[in-house]
Formats: sequence, structure tokens, C-alpha cells
Amino acid sequence: MDISDLAERILKGERRALARAITLVESGRRDHRAAATALLERLNDSGRHSLRIGLSGTPGVGKSTFIESFGLMLTGERLRVAVLAVDPSSARTGGSILGDKTRMERLSREPLAFIRPSPSQSHLGGIARRSREAVALCEAAGFDVVLIETVGVGQSETVVAEIADLFLLLIAPAGGDELQGVKRGIMEMADLILVNKADGDLKAAAARTRSDYAGALRLLRKRPQDPEGFPAAIMVSALENSGLEKAWTRMQELAEWRREHGHWEARRAAQARYWFAQDVRNALLARLEEPRAREHMMMLSEQVARGEISPGAGAQTMLEVLGDVRPCEGGA
Ligand code: GDP
Repeated sequence: MDISDLAERILKGERRALARAITLVESGRRDHRAAATALLERLNDSGRHSLRIGLSGTPGVGKSTFIESFGLMLTGERLRVAVLAVDPSSARTGGSILGDKTRMERLSREPLAFIRPSPSQSHLGGIARRSREAVALCEAAGFDVVLIETVGVGQSETVVAEIADLFLLLIAPAGGDELQGVKRGIMEMADLILVNKADGDLKAAAARTRSDYAGALRLLRKRPQDPEGFPAAIMVSALENSGLEKAWTRMQELAEWRREHGHWEARRAAQARYWFAQDVRNALLARLEEPRAREHMMMLSEQVARGEISPGAGAQTMLEVLGDVRPCEGGA
């Protein structure tokens, strides 16, 4: 595979090259991994910056409807939009639920948009790296906005928050007691809460829900990365295309303010640090799985069990062995 050619084509914004590169970062094969790392390194200084928007919400809240309407609004402004999904449920079921093109049919036909469904069958660590790297590829390909979608199930939000510049939480109109259904941790990550389905019979309930959340947000500790008035809660209707312009304006306001006050760069730097540490950690764990390492592990573990060496000394020996374990070439 010619990595420099692939990099060139990605920089030119060629969608097929981008799709191919994402397939590469998703691959578990060791030679693919090496190629993916080389590719990302080559694209690392592209100097391009997308606005990375994380979007979370429980199934049925209207994520795909929102992404389609919002995405079409942005492409209508001649902005290039990429949609990616972080979908831990597909890791369990093997099925891809989020980012499905059939869910965003009109947007997927739009030449300025690029939609990538979530890969099936991967562990969360693999999904996290793949998502982060796919975002970096879209960024290098010159997309103005990258939307990263996830379902509201705990850990995946943390992954998205560690990738995105802004985090949106989509909520459905409900009785006040349902406010407790949203985990505090997830609310604390949100920059903007969008109460969707603010239309027809649901409009009054949406208004109540919005003010409940606005109240709850005011009770949260003030974050240094927020200007006055953020995090905010607003009403939208993805179905009727209302409130989307306002939501976009608020996102831009926030992004602009963070850029001007150094929070943008600080956040990206902190994210890069985080992913670096994660990669080191994951690579070390992977080394433990090497056949030679497993053999040593078993052997030492027996010696520890028989009382021949102490657990601490066994661990010390194991770490020395790990320093010597080098991944073998090729293969999965
Ligand atoms: P997702 O599972 O979060 O991706 O939710 P979907 O986008 O698939 O939407 C779930 C259901 O809610 C569908 O029947 C949508 O038509 C409906 N829906 C989505 N957005 C709105 C909205 O703004 N207003 C109303 N009334 N219904 C909506």
C-alpha cells in the first residue's frame, strides 16, 4: 500500500481514499495497524481543524433525524460535514445501529456530506481508537464539521468527550421526574442540551423540560471553559427544522469564545495527552497477550503459587520479560 499516495488523496478530500483509510484504522491486522499509524503521522500536521461535535442521546430521542436536518442545514451553507458513530452496542451484537446510512438517507446523498457507519465487533478500546483516528482522517480531508454520534450508555460518552470540541446532549420532552434519568456525569459533559421534538402536541412539554434542564445546569459547578450563559438548554425540532439555526449559532459562539480564550487549544492538547497515555497502556496490555509473554506469565504464576518467589519479585521478572517481548511480524 502506498501510504504517501493515500495521504495525498485524503488531503485532496477524495472520499474513496478517506473511506479506505478509515477501513485501515479499523483493521485489527498488525501490518494494517503499522500502515495506519504511518498514515496518521503523515497527516498529523495538515494544519486543518474541523469543528468536532459529539452528540449523545438515548435511542428514539431523534439523533439520526437531528443529524440529517442539521447536516443538511450545514451543507446548505456549503460546509462539508462528516458523520461518524461511536457505538458500543454493536460491539456486543455485531450489528451496526448508529451512523447507518439508511437512517440519514437524504444527507447520505449530499455530495458535501460523508457518513460512516460504526464498525461491528470491536471492544470499546478498539472503538475509541478507531473513532479518534477516523475523526483525524476526516479533519485532514478538510471537513468543516465532524459529528460524532453515540447512544447514551455510559462509557461511550467519555470516549466522545475525549474526541470532541463540543458535546451536545439530545433529550426528549418529558415529565419533570425524568430529569433524573440522565446521569449527572453525562449532564456535566454537555455544552448544549437540545430538547428535541418541540413541535405539535409535544411543544408545551418540551418547554417545561427545557426550563427544568436549564435550572439543573445552573446548579452545576461553573466550568472555566464556559462563557456566561453556557452550558445552555434550548428547544429544537429535528422533524420541523426549527431551532437548528439557533443551536448552530450557539455552538459557533461557544467555539469562538473557547478559541479566543485558549480553551480550545488547551482541550485538544489535553486530549492528545490522554490518547497518548491510552495508547501506551493498551499497547502494554497487548504485549501481555503475546504467546511468549503468556508462557512466562504462567510459569511465574506457578512459581509464585508454590512459594518459590514472592508475587512482587515475580512481577518484577515479568516486567523485564515484557521489555524483551517484541511483536512478531505480520498476522492478526
Ligand atoms: P434515534 O434513535 O435517536 O436516532 O432517533 P430517530 O431519529 O430514529 O427518531 C426516533 C423517532 O422520533 C422517529 O419516529 C422520528 O420521526 C421521531 N422524531 C425525531 N425527531 C423528531 C422531532 O423533532 N419531532 C417529532 N415529533 N418527532 C421526531
